[in-house]
Amino acid sequence: MSVFLQNVLITLKRGVALGGFPEGLYKILSKPERIVAVSIPVRLDNGELEVFEGFRVQHCSALGPYKGGIRFYPGVTLEDDIALATLMTLKNSLAGLPYGGGKGAVRVDPRKLSARELEQLARGYVRALYPVLGELVDIPAPDVGTDSRVMAWMVDEYSKLLGRNAPASFTAKPAVLWGNPVREYATGFGCAVMTREAAERILGNFKGLALAVQGFGNTGQWHAYWASKMGFKVVAISDLSGTVYDPDGIDIEKAMKVKSETGKVVDYPDGKKLSDPKAALYVDADVIAPDAVENQITLENVGKVKAKLVVEGANGPTTPEAELELAKRGVVVVPDFLANAGGVVMSYLEWVQNLQWYWWSEEETRAKLERIMRDNFERVWAKFEEMRRSSREVVMRDAALVIALQRIYDAMKARGWL
Ligand code: NAD
Repeated sequence: MSVFLQNVLITLKRGVALGGFPEGLYKILSKPERIVAVSIPVRLDNGELEVFEGFRVQHCSALGPYKGGIRFYPGVTLEDDIALATLMTLKNSLAGLPYGGGKGAVRVDPRKLSARELEQLARGYVRALYPVLGELVDIPAPDVGTDSRVMAWMVDEYSKLLGRNAPASFTAKPAVLWGNPVREYATGFGCAVMTREAAERILGNFKGLALAVQGFGNTGQWHAYWASKMGFKVVAISDLSGTVYDPDGIDIEKAMKVKSETGKVVDYPDGKKLSDPKAALYVDADVIAPDAVENQITLENVGKVKAKLVVEGANGPTTPEAELELAKRGVVVVPDFLANAGGVVMSYLEWVQNLQWYWWSEEETRAKLERIMRDNFERVWAKFEEMRRSSREVVMRDAALVIALQRIYDAMKARGWL
């Protein structure tokens, strides 16, 4: 079994034990409800035929239709896809959405395909899975290696097969195909809301607090942008080119412009340049945001972290051992599946609009997203405080896990599954 799937199952088991749920909950959640494996033939530009391997894992439908992204990635395995689908079940439940979890994958390096080949692959994936997709059945979204352009091809293919437009069958589509402009920055915006709520709770205030962001991609840029709009002072940003540190504060709009022009944050004209991309995690800051990739804060470097609060924009940036070490020092980690849920919450808002053929303005949509993220923080924080009263070992991630499992358990019980 892959290490990733093993770890997800360990987390699940820990959550079931922590919440005092029956063993049956683990038994059901440790296996997906349905796995579909497909072969997708694509005629390449050079005339040769290539057959790609794809999956869709429909993990759990207790809370509603399956929801989760589609990944185009060369190293993807079915077991990793199962692990990702399981995490989506937990994330959707925690966010209070009417969805179960799912995840799709195609084993391919999309950068090696031409636009035409990529389109054929996207359409082929939908044709192969058509019988098990649908706006009330399973609603995919982009993930690693896919984007709104791929969603546009997919929703078009699905609509053709169905014989009518079906906008709610995929989310994170371009605005002209019933998408919503908030989706572009929803994850980072949600992270910023979480950062503000957590800072107010834990540090007593947020205005003027120093925030350092590791990773200046979609999540990190918008996290930094919205946090600075809310009143944080962003003192460090980083990407693979290195770290920019400026205790007087970085002009995020300017940094975003530089990043889009040269692809490197270190081309930002001001501040001090540090060669280590991880240096953003070690600078003098009240809050750090690991928004790049997994396994960034580990037992090896946790001693260098000076911040009092960590908000995980990336998935899995803090190892469990490092998180316990931080907890011992009183540092709170806002866990990934709470902090970075803005994207899937926005997908839900897009889906609701699509089902009703009704549109909210960007401001109205953002306000709804903000309210949901804030409420989610409050729920987890209240549970965390309650659990902390009986055990000092508890971290915020445990509280989130128990809340997510409680909703799933209640739904399964009401349905007579348990
Ligand atoms: P992205 O590819 O847009 O950006 C990643 C950024 O991190 C790049 O700027 C890259 O240079 C930088 N980076 C990579 N390794 C680094 C390192 N070691 N140190 C510093 N910087 C490094 O990706 P993204 O969409 O922003 O995703 C980032 C993380 O957020 C991932 O873990 C992803 O799973 C998670 N996430 C993203 C979304 C979303 O909607 N984009 C939603 C939920 C979770």
